[in-house]
Amino acid sequence: MAISQAHKRYEFKRHLEEMRSKTGKGTELISLYIPPDKQISDVVAQLRAEHGQAANIKSKSTRTNVQSALESVLARLKYYPRPPENGFVIFCGTLDLDGHRTTLDTMIIEPHEPITSYKYHCDSSFYLDPLEEMLVEKRTFGLIAIDRREATIGLLRGKAIESRKHLTSTVPGKQRKGGQSAHRFQQLRLIAIHDFYKKIGNSASEIFLTIDHKDLEGVLIGGPSPTKEEFFDGEFLHHELQKKIMGLFDTAYTDESGLYELVDAAEDALQDLEVTKQKKIMQRFMRELVSDKGLVAYGDSQVRGNLELGAVSVLLISEDLRQVRVTIACQNCDYTRKDTLESVPDSIEERCPSCNSELKVTDVVDVVDELTEVCDQMGTSVEFISTEFEEGDQLMRAFGGVAAMLRYDAGV
Ligand code: ZN
Repeated sequence: MAISQAHKRYEFKRHLEEMRSKTGKGTELISLYIPPDKQISDVVAQLRAEHGQAANIKSKSTRTNVQSALESVLARLKYYPRPPENGFVIFCGTLDLDGHRTTLDTMIIEPHEPITSYKYHCDSSFYLDPLEEMLVEKRTFGLIAIDRREATIGLLRGKAIESRKHLTSTVPGKQRKGGQSAHRFQQLRLIAIHDFYKKIGNSASEIFLTIDHKDLEGVLIGGPSPTKEEFFDGEFLHHELQKKIMGLFDTAYTDESGLYELVDAAEDALQDLEVTKQKKIMQRFMRELVSDKGLVAYGDSQVRGNLELGAVSVLLISEDLRQVRVTIACQNCDYTRKDTLESVPDSIEERCPSCNSELKVTDVVDVVDELTEVCDQMGTSVEFISTEFEEGDQLMRAFGGVAAMLRYDAGV
């Protein structure tokens, strides 16, 4: 089953959160990043050498822990004649459980993006930077840095800035030559400026329109005032691109360094973009909630009921939702039910309502996994909402972390 991009990201985030919380003593935790083109035999050779060197570690417990971890990693590598498509990461080490107990644990992550460099790292926590880097969205923005003398057009992809075209103008300076009338000079100057803007608009449109419509998130324009404002007001960009202009930002330079200045200046706007999208969804939910027709549902049971009837158009899940769906079954008769709980109970106190026998937990699934799977089957889209803004925080605290926009009132 194909799972959505948003869900993949969410799962990846959860994995990282889990890894971040794990600690060991000294430098006993191993993080091993293996890119797709790395020879496993080379990795094995290095780990064997590390194992040999670990014999020199003075502390007996550290020595044992490091060597056990290396042995565990070597054992796992036997299952990989070659790295998977995007490479993989092995985390291994003796983890602190509660200060007294420890356990040797090995985890393997196959990321959704390729690992670019090999890394063997030992520390008291796992090394996660390359994976965290993958969480940063690789969005594309069009960049224009402009004044009346020159302009630079470029692209921002993820964190990388590419300069694509540099243009210079023939706009005459403010100083007119002798013999020209002031009025005529002024007119010629305005025409030259207009022509230059047109040239920039055409070049930028040409470059930006080669990017898939869905992938170009927006256009940023930088430069001194009033040039960038004139360029914006004159609508010199293709109308589809004109609609994507996210803002005008002051920059002192308009050469390639102006593109960097522009991205710096627009950083807050870029960061707000994802939050803005989530905010809009939550505001739509709040409006629906207070309206008469109120095509919304919230809380586990109401949302579930609507979801199963196919009445949900968009499911909203708080990124902080951590619940499990447990199946509780009678050990004697066929009584069974499902509950949504904060964590898996150690035992069930109550007895079976039909035969009074013992009840047991027979199945546990993560609520987010379960709900998104139902959504995939029903053709319902899922939006993950962060708790870092007011309405998002309300989704978690006031609405139980899960809410829905409905297609119709199913009477649930
Ligand atoms: Zn029973």
